Amino acid sequence: ATPMSIMVGVGKAAEHGILIRNGEALEQAGRLTTIVLDKTGTLTIGKPVVTDCIALHGSRKELLYLAASLESGSEHPLAAAILAAAAEEGVESGNVGGFKAIPGLGVEGVVDGRRLLLGSLRLMEEQGIEAEVEIRQQLAGLAEKARTPVLLAENGKLLGLLAVADPVRSDSREAVRRLKEKGLRVVMLTGDSRETANAIAEELGVDDVISEVMPADKDSKIADLQRGGEVVGMVGDGINDAAALARADVGFAIGAGTDIAMESADVTLMRSTPLSVITAIEISRATMANIR
Ligand code: ADP
Ligand code: MG
Repeated sequence: ATPMSIMVGVGKAAEHGILIRNGEALEQAGRLTTIVLDKTGTLTIGKPVVTDCIALHGSRKELLYLAASLESGSEHPLAAAILAAAAEEGVESGNVGGFKAIPGLGVEGVVDGRRLLLGSLRLMEEQGIEAEVEIRQQLAGLAEKARTPVLLAENGKLLGLLAVADPVRSDSREAVRRLKEKGLRVVMLTGDSRETANAIAEELGVDDVISEVMPADKDSKIADLQRGGEVVGMVGDGINDAAALARADVGFAIGAGTDIAMESADVTLMRSTPLSVITAIEISRATMANIR
């Protein structure tokens, strides 16, 4: 590859809002065999909204109050959804003490002297908190609708459950279809539960789903694919994705995402659409074809 043709390719990509940090990334983009896409904020808009709020003990307002107070310490997209839902119902959040985020699982803290735990069913299970059959069925029903259930517990007892939905980006489905058309394997990677992830994966038509991945393990999933002989492009937006973006053969950061993702990636997609990955691949292939 001549430096001149690479420069032209990088410039062409920039015209499409695709900022390529180095020439090597442009060369590699056309050789990718697998594209791994993060779910939240990449395939989905990343602005979840609360769809369900079911109190098991106490009132619905109390459930919202406790959940929102806990989440006031969190920067997770789910936290924003819960705070917005509380505000919408006129519920003001209180203070949280001893707040701790449990990456990939949820949050814990003390509200009004009550020690609370909020997060996924997996978090509850890891803490030895049991969910009755009826609740499990409710959770399964929510996950089937591609919603993410969040549970609130106090002293080992479930107080209630919330669910959030995060709409898929309007062009995610088309992006997946066109990537597959190009002969690429399309994989969705997420910390969300298997059931919720599968529901969204089916909607989008991805080949494979890797779910319930803890933030610290996302990059090792990329390494696994690379060891299997794949040349891997990773598309992500979050702090959670930074290591995986750096590990991938080409890391693509969603422009509307976090600074850390952009710093770790080779490419920034200013239009925040997964369709830009296809454009990048096409420009790469055209650039490399001209050279040979
Ligand atoms: P993703 O990979 O989809 O961005 P994360 O790894 O950040 O997801 O989180 C995985 C799961 O952990 C979420 O789907 C949710 O169930 C739970 N979780 C994480 N953070 C929070 C939080 N602040 N409040 C409630 N649940 C949370
Ligand atoms: Mg994300």
